[in-house]
Amino acid sequence: MTAQDTIRFNVPAIEGRELEYVRTALDGGHTSASGPFSKKVSALLAEASGASEVLLTTSCTAALELAGMLTDIGPGDVVVVPDFTFTTTALAYARAGATLRYCDIEPRTLGMDPEHLATLMDERVKAVVPVHYAGVACDLDGIRKVLAQWPGATLIEDNAHGLFGTWHGQPLGSFGRFATLSFHETKNFICGEGGALLINDPADVDRARVLFDKGTNRQAFFLGQVDKYSWKDTGSSFGLSDTLAAQLYGQLEMHDQILGKRAAVWNRYAELVAPVADEFGLTLPVVPEGARQAFHMFYLLFPDQALRDRALAGMGARGVKPTFHYVPLHSSDAGRRFADVPGECPVSEDVSGRLLRLPFFNNLTAEQADRVVGALRASLLD
Ligand SMILES: *Cc1c(COP(=O)(O)O)cnc(C)c1O
Repeated sequence: MTAQDTIRFNVPAIEGRELEYVRTALDGGHTSASGPFSKKVSALLAEASGASEVLLTTSCTAALELAGMLTDIGPGDVVVVPDFTFTTTALAYARAGATLRYCDIEPRTLGMDPEHLATLMDERVKAVVPVHYAGVACDLDGIRKVLAQWPGATLIEDNAHGLFGTWHGQPLGSFGRFATLSFHETKNFICGEGGALLINDPADVDRARVLFDKGTNRQAFFLGQVDKYSWKDTGSSFGLSDTLAAQLYGQLEMHDQILGKRAAVWNRYAELVAPVADEFGLTLPVVPEGARQAFHMFYLLFPDQALRDRALAGMGARGVKPTFHYVPLHSSDAGRRFADVPGECPVSEDVSGRLLRLPFFNNLTAEQADRVVGALRASLLD
């Protein structure tokens, strides 16, 4: 088998006018943050989510940090994060001096379990940061019911997977006081490295603009609200280059087409995998009633880790590159170091050992999907 035949886990693609827009950005001379393409992207995302303001950042991680600054998270505070998530959902707050509590996931959506969340809450909890895993809404009703008892805790949605997903018709990313997006090359809409902070409470907008722009009121100056700008507050250099915003705009204006392609891949997998799942006791992803998913990934849960590991190795040997996912944060070195209290998250631990993600990208062909599922079945018969 040649390297060319390998079906990689992710293949980033140009989907529309990205190259033309990057050229326009370079020719136009405004390649720093808040340029013409950034304004187009922010307007598109505000329209899609209903946010009061959308600030484009260098990454989702940076947006999570900015949300933490706006919430004044610091030493003495506790932040609750899912145990089964990417490192930076937690790191963004640990580095600000907060300690972490790890919330177990519920086995259906692999999002935060509201029952466990309720046991983790007290007056020290400054923020709760759920993830919509795989672009499927977590139990937002349950989580909001718990938070209703704790008005001091801010809801920050890490929506790195779920742009254009909805919950009972309402966009993911519009439920928290803040929400974050990622445009990393592994996500649905890409510009290499990039992210966004959605600000859903108009009362946060003015301060957010200052923290975003190196602690200055430069944005107010450009909007004609003040006649000179100066240093006002904390902050950092959060802004995404307009060159990357140009690439991102080329992607986002094709969002219907991109989501359509991803839905087709997802549905094809679901159909092809069903008989294999029956044969070997695999579980397919659940999309609850009321959730419209964002088609970020296709994962399978195996009956045990040994079978999952056999599939990983066997598919790899057949030129198909599936992958596992998060190692539970509470069991990592840094996760233990930043923990407020030692946590137990049995579902997260169990799922982490049994989950496998199939290759998933916009232009994965029907023939490639056949090969992926063929390799899956063959490796289980090894
Ligand atoms: C990808 C991802 C991030 C980090 O995104 P960056 O843009 O790479 O900083 C954070 N949280 C989740 C859930 C992610 O999947």
